Amino acid sequence: MTVVGLDDTDSRERGMCTTYVATEIAAALSERDDVTVDRLVLVRLNPAVRYKTRGNAALAIHIEDDPDVAFSVARDVLEKRSETADERTNPGLVVADHDPDAVPDRVRSFAMDAIREQLTIEDAVTVATDSGYRHWGLGNGRGRIGALAAIGAWAALEDWTYEYISYREPARWGTPRAVDEESVFTAADRGYPTVWDTIDRGEGETVCVPHTPGPILHGIRGDDPEVVRTVANTIESEPVDGRQLFVTNQGTDVHLRNHGSLRFASEPIDGRAYRLEGWVASEPATRRGGHVFFELAGEPPAVGDGAKGSNTPIDETATGTSPRLTCAAFEPTKRFRDRVRSLHVGDRITACGEVSGGTLKLEKFAVRDLVRTERVTPTCSSCGRRMKSAGRNQGYRCRDCGTSAEEKVDRRLERDLEIGWYEVPPCARRHIAKPLVRGGFDGPTHPER
Ligand code: ATP
Repeated sequence: MTVVGLDDTDSRERGMCTTYVATEIAAALSERDDVTVDRLVLVRLNPAVRYKTRGNAALAIHIEDDPDVAFSVARDVLEKRSETADERTNPGLVVADHDPDAVPDRVRSFAMDAIREQLTIEDAVTVATDSGYRHWGLGNGRGRIGALAAIGAWAALEDWTYEYISYREPARWGTPRAVDEESVFTAADRGYPTVWDTIDRGEGETVCVPHTPGPILHGIRGDDPEVVRTVANTIESEPVDGRQLFVTNQGTDVHLRNHGSLRFASEPIDGRAYRLEGWVASEPATRRGGHVFFELAGEPPAVGDGAKGSNTPIDETATGTSPRLTCAAFEPTKRFRDRVRSLHVGDRITACGEVSGGTLKLEKFAVRDLVRTERVTPTCSSCGRRMKSAGRNQGYRCRDCGTSAEEKVDRRLERDLEIGWYEVPPCARRHIAKPLVRGGFDGPTHPER
């Protein structure tokens, strides 16, 4: 058995796609030697990597072939197809001559690190060489990081999904795609929930059809290889040049590190993605551009911070010095921002997303405990008007009626949120982020579709 790993073939401006190159290599190998391709694996690596062109994808081909032949054929195709006129395109190829499951521990953990950490080209070259793998690169050969990770991923990961990609005729690349939208909506509805992120109902968008200049016509994602095929086959469009099924780690949340409470967390680090527990510590605020921000704290807000009434007692001893992290829902997350705006100081949540520039970019969050009341200045029982402060530590008084109250009173809060998970809509989903509809979450879910 041979495993061929490859990465970094395309350019943002010129368009290409590593899935397409992998499909070509698989076709060239199976035609030449009449050998069986077992599967093509599409692995999404750390979405926070700055070298990525778009979705940080790397590919592996599992094939019953001679590793030397596989290496030279793959290299030929990579040399021909890679968009190396773009200096940021640095293709890499790694070939392993073992069963896809028989990955050495170092390669397995390299794959996990490539999904959650930042690695160097030297890391990849050392591990590939020590493992006895053939490897090759163009430019600075950075693609060897993804190529090696794509080999290790098969043994490192457990949760797999599918994408069935339909490709365009080469003469049409770069021209507008002719896809019948209605047929996409109908097919997506039929396939849901096994097939997900095909469309965004709220935005009326066909998410499965890319806007970039590359060879992909559409990609259908889901949990069952037969259903993704069926959905793709019922979409009406321009002629399809070829189709390929990929086994992927898309829609799995495998990039998230489970960090527990923000209170006990060592500082969250830029360039990684986390799942963090904490308390909403500032009212969500919408800033210029429509982005929504709030502070997450590692302990409940202190008395007097304005909210109480969740099952979590307000912490009388809270110092206000626990770790804090700014969380953001950016404008492209659309209606998700309304969910974030509905959060209130004192709500206990689990927040998921990548930390960048010290800010957690929310992909989803779970409401664990909702604040049900807030502390407000009392109203006068005679005239119904809001009382005024009677001076420092002297309670409140109605200046007209003379009535008084010692302290603020509880007022019931109407909440638009329920306990459970909320997520960005399909149009804003990162490839690797798990849609709630896939299930397996530790609470009720409120899926977007
Ligand atoms: P493509 O469609 O070509 O795969 P892409 O968005 O996946 O586009 P690439 O062009 O592959 O982006 O560029 C990503 C680069 O970053 C690759 O060279 C890959 O080896 C490298 N890379 C991937 N993960 C990591 C990581 N965790 N640390 C450092 N570099 C990484």
